[in-house]
Amino acid sequence: QKEEWAKLKDEPTFSEDGEQVELAANIGTPNDVEGVLNNGGEGIGLYRTEFLYMGKSELPSEEEQYEAYKSVLEQMGDKPVVVRTLDIGGDKELDYLDLPKELNPFLGFRAIRFCLENEDVFRPQLRALLRASVHGTLKIMFPMIATLEEFRQAKAILLDEKEKLANDGVNTADNIEVGIMVEIPSTAVIAKQFAKEVDFFSIGTNDLIQYTMAADRMNEQVSYLYQPYHPAILNLVNNVIEAAHSEGKWAGMCGEMAGDSIAIPILLGLGLDEFSMSATSILQARSQISGLSKEKMASYKDKLLSMGTAEEVVEFIKEKTN
Ligand code: PEP
Ligand code: MG
Repeated sequence: QKEEWAKLKDEPTFSEDGEQVELAANIGTPNDVEGVLNNGGEGIGLYRTEFLYMGKSELPSEEEQYEAYKSVLEQMGDKPVVVRTLDIGGDKELDYLDLPKELNPFLGFRAIRFCLENEDVFRPQLRALLRASVHGTLKIMFPMIATLEEFRQAKAILLDEKEKLANDGVNTADNIEVGIMVEIPSTAVIAKQFAKEVDFFSIGTNDLIQYTMAADRMNEQVSYLYQPYHPAILNLVNNVIEAAHSEGKWAGMCGEMAGDSIAIPILLGLGLDEFSMSATSILQARSQISGLSKEKMASYKDKLLSMGTAEEVVEFIKEKTN
């Protein structure tokens, strides 16, 4: 089986009925890129930049960040690289920032909320990204967006830094797509309004599931409620994909669900454009998709979205895909 998969390494990803999707990888450091290319990744769908900030005693400099982003972009050549801006807080702490202890860290001061309040941290990251943009195909993504105002504010800061760089004679790419993670239900619900302003969506199911089901993703006692196939999740995912397509934008997914063999047929049928997963899952996913009819999966959409439980969803998909 592994040998069969290996043959697919340098192939694009097509369903049985000839519909193309993109299989990308999630990475944490420039060292991960080699594994992505060896496993046939068509892009990076999520570069988690937190690792640059963790395990040290002070913030990384703009230069240090520039080198890391440039390295990833250069290694990927003309393949797209989606870099997520800093998502600190929640379960990821930074000792040197001395953030206040919170009663509900996952509902607290993290990610874009922190960055918009701490422009001295946010701006150097954006500058490093903009400077690196000439070395490949960069897309910038903001995490934990709950409101349109947050997106507008973050984008305005990005454009401000771009203009400053231009005034200083520093080149940046003109075609950088700017998108958001959809991992908060409010954003999934009004995805249509967001779709008019963002260039793309990437659905972060790890958080979207925890917030939709009100079940802490780290808490074993409520893990039975952490249900990727719950119809509420499928309806939100569908809403995001439909919203994107109605405005001619693309929708990806970078949560764990994107590489899950039960979820893949469902997501293909819902019309997901990009699946971003751990590099080691890519070849298996490509092989699976090559045996699935997108049209057939799409024909199950209304039925799946109107089901009452995750169990029904799983049973139905198992029956239709074996
Ligand atoms: C997600 O929430 O699905 C996601 C990809 O982000 P993280 O796991 O880093 O929170
Ligand atoms: Mg997340």
